[in-house]
Amino acid sequence: MSGIRYQDISKNFGEVEVIRSLDLRIAEGEFVVYVGPSGCGKTTLLRMLAGLEPVSDGRIFIGERDVTELTPKERNISMVFQNYALYPHMTVAENIGFGLRLKGVSRAARDAAVRETAEMLGLGALLERKPRALSGGQRQRVAMGRAIIRQPDAFLMDEPLSNLDAQLRNHMRTEIKALQSRLGTTMIYVTHDQVEAMTMADRIVVLNGGVIQQIGTPDELYSRPANRFVAGFIGAPVMNFLPAESFSGVLPKEGASEIGVRPDDLKLCRNEGPLPVQWRARVVQVEPLGGEALVHVAFDGRRACLKQRGGTRPAPGDEIEIGFIPGDAHFFAADGSALATSGAASVAAS
Ligand code: ATP
Repeated sequence: MSGIRYQDISKNFGEVEVIRSLDLRIAEGEFVVYVGPSGCGKTTLLRMLAGLEPVSDGRIFIGERDVTELTPKERNISMVFQNYALYPHMTVAENIGFGLRLKGVSRAARDAAVRETAEMLGLGALLERKPRALSGGQRQRVAMGRAIIRQPDAFLMDEPLSNLDAQLRNHMRTEIKALQSRLGTTMIYVTHDQVEAMTMADRIVVLNGGVIQQIGTPDELYSRPANRFVAGFIGAPVMNFLPAESFSGVLPKEGASEIGVRPDDLKLCRNEGPLPVQWRARVVQVEPLGGEALVHVAFDGRRACLKQRGGTRPAPGDEIEIGFIPGDAHFFAADGSALATSGAASVAAS
């Protein structure tokens, strides 16, 4: 069994504490994505699991095995990096089969494994090519082939798509996800790209400053963020944060310091009809996105953004009524923690 467990892990680089007492369990076969701002410790967490970086404290388990002191080789996991250096003088087949050759696997067994892996990745016709004669996406697939052929207990991927253009990234994202579910191998994937995180993950781990902020399915993080950090990090455009006191007449909530409303949930009254909570704002900017538009508004010296789908599109300078349904709002205490949403109930009580 190849679940993964980080147990009370800390990591310092000299005086700098990068990870603090972190506990995390990943089930066998799960696709877990680490997200968080630059420097939050995502790569360090992967490298400690791979054995490329020692832990300062705590234990790491793969299945039942305590691997904390084991070398990378002994851990039986494969890592694919952003800079997936292929051997330029070797063919695709040789690149994919290289690890097996090092292990002393026989030529015949190696060839069969290379062929099977290459077919799975759509590289069957390219086995004799050198990397320079491949597209970026094909090279990325060769790098994955190298990882897959070893039949590891887990795949670790650190921003593997960030060197590819947007279209190819979308395509590879779908391929990696499909491949992982076919193989059923545990995957830990690091990315900056929250669309990647939301579309690929079974569960997302949101990190900030080396501390886990929340672990959950993409839907859980989006609809029930545990705190203001997660609320502001997951979802694009970002959630609007408004002072709770401005709404205390219509939306009382004990202990609330701020109210969060996503651009998807902030609406134009002239399109949606009267809303339980509404106020007047001035349109500052309109960004058309094809079928929808982002409307940036100002009021009381504040800014907010809403996503307009149907109806009439406002223009900069327009005075409009905007609003939201209380059930769509998120409430945050002064320390940033989310308060349980009781939405409509709190309005009914007012
Ligand atoms: P990014 O998204 O920018 O890749 P990350 O979340 O992967 O960031 P890490 O690379 O894990 O972050 O780095 C976490 C912190 O540890 C950063 O502040 C980084 O500067 C520091 N750090 C990483 N490696 C070392 C090292 N070898 N020596 C000293 N500090 C390091």
